[in-house]
Amino acid sequence: MDYTFKPKRVYFEPDALDYPLGKELKKHFQEEGVEIKNTTSHNRVTGIPGKTPQEAYLEGKRTLVVGVRRSKDFQTCKPSAHYQLPLVTSCPGKCQYCYLATNMGKKPYVRIYVNTEEILEQAEKYMKERQPEITIFEGAATSDPIPMEPYTGALKKAVEFFGQHERGRFRFVTKFTGVEPLLDAKHNNHTRFRFSINSEPVIQKYEHGTPSMSERVKAASKVAQAGYPLGFIIAPIILEDNWQQHYTELLSLLSEKIPKKLQQEITFELITHRFTKRAKGVITEVFPNTTLEMNEENRAFKYGQFGYGKYVYPKDQMQQIKDFFETKLNRLFPQSKIEYFV
Ligand code: SF4
Repeated sequence: MDYTFKPKRVYFEPDALDYPLGKELKKHFQEEGVEIKNTTSHNRVTGIPGKTPQEAYLEGKRTLVVGVRRSKDFQTCKPSAHYQLPLVTSCPGKCQYCYLATNMGKKPYVRIYVNTEEILEQAEKYMKERQPEITIFEGAATSDPIPMEPYTGALKKAVEFFGQHERGRFRFVTKFTGVEPLLDAKHNNHTRFRFSINSEPVIQKYEHGTPSMSERVKAASKVAQAGYPLGFIIAPIILEDNWQQHYTELLSLLSEKIPKKLQQEITFELITHRFTKRAKGVITEVFPNTTLEMNEENRAFKYGQFGYGKYVYPKDQMQQIKDFFETKLNRLFPQSKIEYFV
């Protein structure tokens, strides 16, 4: 399947057209016959259609906004990195449990910037402030950046930028497979390329518009062969019927397809399914027929760090999942590291 993002409409901030990439993108979309609009701010975009929550969501996902990133401040990104690297916001995928669902508004349009170089200059300042400590930047805190790479080349620029910096490290995660533009990037082992993976039934049911398990594993194998430090986020781990069998299939496929000699130092991040009341509300509004299990009575309630609570699997089920993955990963990937389990 072709996962190249083809927006239905593209908004440009007027300043974006002062940059070569802005001009190039406008020309490209004009030639493609895509509807072009103007917006005074990439933060407040009006005129995206959508009367019902579902329409608003789908039209948002078909909208691209091209802007200039002016804010000099980066958000912090604890605990996995020091700062978010703001390259893209949102993504054309339509995962029901997308972690961005509750903070992107009703029309989660995709946003890119034409001034990557200026963003990287700012990253340089942050690195200088922290030297001689190493500073880690996360490139996927508010997006899946891979689908937009053909338009901006921003990830490759970032990978090569951090490749040259002794005190800088970069990491990002994707569910997408358009990794080719990054395979020849001079990463110098400073970028950890992570894939978000799941069992095939979970992907089919909940991760609409994203590549299959086997396509992602194939892309991960290419990335491993390009010498990148590799990582996998298995999330959300969902206790559906036959979950052990399905996750065993996933891990076996990974162990078979990633060349053995490249399996050292793979990292795994394991995140069980959880939801907040607010996320449940958004999901059931946009996906009214969802089969995602979100019954509070079957869950344990846990206070989150931002003051709102979340519903997680009860302790005995959490232990069962933890034991399962630790046993499997120790056997199939003895040299890998589990970074965390939550
Ligand atoms: Fe959200 Fe990631 Fe799915 Fe995109 S791929 S919709 S960012 S969870």
